[in-house]
Amino acid sequence: MTTCKECEFFFSVPEDADDYKPAKGDCVVEKQDEKGKYWLAKPVSEKDGCCEQYRPGSR
Ligand code: SF4
Repeated sequence: MTTCKECEFFFSVPEDADDYKPAKGDCVVEKQDEKGKYWLAKPVSEKDGCCEQYRPGSR
């Protein structure tokens, strides 16, 4: 199964962060509308199954 960990939009929570937990990360997706660019962020786990916005990343 492809997981969030392999997605370009997945960012691990750094180990020194207050909310660090193993496998925890944030999904940050860049969006664009007529007013310009914006970002949507939500907490995810690197083991979550990928969603329809999945994009293969370099990690
Ligand atoms: S929720 Fe979707 S877009 Fe976000 S990191 Fe996971 S696969 Fe990528």
